Amino acid sequence: MWSRWRRLPLHWQILVAMALGLALGVGLDQLAKAGTIDRSVAERAAGIGQQVGKLFLALLSMLVVPLILSSLVSGVVGVPDLRGLRSMSIWTFGFYLISSLLAIATGILVVNLIRPGDGLDYATLHAAAVGHGSAMPEGAAAAGQAGASSLWDVLFRMVPENVIAASSSNRLILAVIFFAIMLGVFIKKVERDGNESGRIMARFFTALFDVMMAMTSWVVSLAPYGIAGFLVSLGASGGLAIAGHLGAYMLAVALGLVIHAVVTLPLLLWVLGRRSPLAHAKAMAPALMTAFSTASSNATLPLTLRCLDERARVDSRVSSFTIPLGATVNMDGTALYEAVAVLFIAQTLGDLSLTQQIVVVFMALAASVGAAGIPHAGTVMMVIVLQAVGLPTEAVIVILAVDRVLDMARTTVNVWSDSCGAAIVARRAAGSLPPPGETEADAAPALADA
Ligand code: ASP
Repeated sequence: MWSRWRRLPLHWQILVAMALGLALGVGLDQLAKAGTIDRSVAERAAGIGQQVGKLFLALLSMLVVPLILSSLVSGVVGVPDLRGLRSMSIWTFGFYLISSLLAIATGILVVNLIRPGDGLDYATLHAAAVGHGSAMPEGAAAAGQAGASSLWDVLFRMVPENVIAASSSNRLILAVIFFAIMLGVFIKKVERDGNESGRIMARFFTALFDVMMAMTSWVVSLAPYGIAGFLVSLGASGGLAIAGHLGAYMLAVALGLVIHAVVTLPLLLWVLGRRSPLAHAKAMAPALMTAFSTASSNATLPLTLRCLDERARVDSRVSSFTIPLGATVNMDGTALYEAVAVLFIAQTLGDLSLTQQIVVVFMALAASVGAAGIPHAGTVMMVIVLQAVGLPTEAVIVILAVDRVLDMARTTVNVWSDSCGAAIVARRAAGSLPPPGETEADAAPALADA
């Protein structure tokens, strides 16, 4: 039985674990509601489930900084020349920009069509949220420490004053990314000058990346148990109940996310990446399911890399460059959600002019770039969008009650977009990279000799 379970492909294991976890959680919640069991039993189960899930999340998070550092450095040094790096960067950032803008445009279109805020009064909503005891959810307050209040803050968060201090927090990943890319570029430069140190460092980071990926494989195999834990807790704590008056708003976010995930991104993948979207989605399934249950792109990063490498067979030199970047910078789901949420709030207060809606487009983009890949980060970053169009920043409280579910959905879209981006860049930049069989080690001496 056990060995048959272990032989089951990972995405099936996760799916079964999700279904069992949710069934157990919801079952206990219903029994407690019916009075068959004591409420404390359901609460205890929710508590245990949450701890198991958190332990898994901690294991994943533990890998994030060393994985991002080694992955980006080895990604940069693995590209044989500047031409390759330039072409990869142009495609990567081009895709991130276009896909995020398309996501925001979809969000704005949907929210203007559905108009979930019509007929709702801001003051009543706000009073209800406060009366309901809505407060920043766990994690959001912490994310707020790294939150930003202006565009400059987003930029400043990229350049660390102290890289060791930045590495000590998964919320300052943007700074680690910036340092890692610089490190990679300068290792390459030293290597190119014929200095042995460059070659040693390049080999060191490539070796570190290999070891980190081996560790990742092990942690990833634990995904079904961690995810089941989260779902037991979600079901047993009645977390699935939704606030009635926010239904139309949730529908608008969900519809926008679905359009972006099943129409826009697959089209881009098919046309630019020449890949079957269905096959790609199947290959990415374990990462997408993890993103859904953890609501964290950063925590999912190890799985995203693993799935791209082993299941989708995307050139690992490309994914090790694009994925750590994408997990923090490319958040289509978050960008779309920012736009919908801000316009929803605006609708309950009056409306926004066309010019203000254009400001929302750019601020939503900035907020999605600046948001860390952790739960509720997007909600905290929404403050900069609200400020830019003169809406009250405490309006965030109105939508908090339903934020967790939406966070799970938008994080899944964030990871799906990263994975489509990696496949597209791998296809488009293939011409400027040597054939995959040729390793960095092979390429390095040629460079040094040149
Ligand atoms: N939780 C999202 C992520 O990790 C960020 C957000 O809150 O929108 O990708």
